[in-house]
Amino acid sequence: MIQPGGRRELYLDHLHELADDTGAVLTFYHPKGFIAQWRAETHRAFRGRPAHITTPLPFTQSHYLTGLHEFGHVYQADLGGTSNHGVTPEGIYGELMAHVWAFEHSRVLPIPDRDLEQARISLLFDAREIGWTGGSVADFLPAHLQDLYSEAFARLEQLQGNVWTEVDRLEQLQGSKGGDA
Ligand SMILES: [Zn+2]
Repeated sequence: MIQPGGRRELYLDHLHELADDTGAVLTFYHPKGFIAQWRAETHRAFRGRPAHITTPLPFTQSHYLTGLHEFGHVYQADLGGTSNHGVTPEGIYGELMAHVWAFEHSRVLPIPDRDLEQARISLLFDAREIGWTGGSVADFLPAHLQDLYSEAFARLEQLQGNVWTEVDRLEQLQGSKGGDA
């Protein structure tokens, strides 16, 4: 259930705000299990039809971040992404930028070794689809995408660093109060 005043309401309100802002049609499905977030998808606005996002009802932070990722595709529609029609190097860059957008616009602190790692891993899965087998994904991409990808990836790592700094700060605050969590 989505209770008023809770975290889930915050997630839901934010996703609705973004739908209002972009005019995207938002469809929620009931998430079941870990796999739920991988079923999310976005159809771009086309010939006067609005963009259409299908995403899990945000019961958890991961579901919320999935919704934000999908909006990342709407706000950066020209970048595209990967889909079940196929994976392209440009699409992988679009996916990375959608992740960056999501983390930069999140109203809750992403969990570095879960949320950010999951984003990195999903990029590796996409890269594997086009023949990447190891090493830097940026080096594997065509020349015109290498710097763009590296820059965006640095933003993701910067975010990860910022989150750890924030976590340390909160832990110190907690410690200075002398209480147990
Ligand atoms: Zn995506």
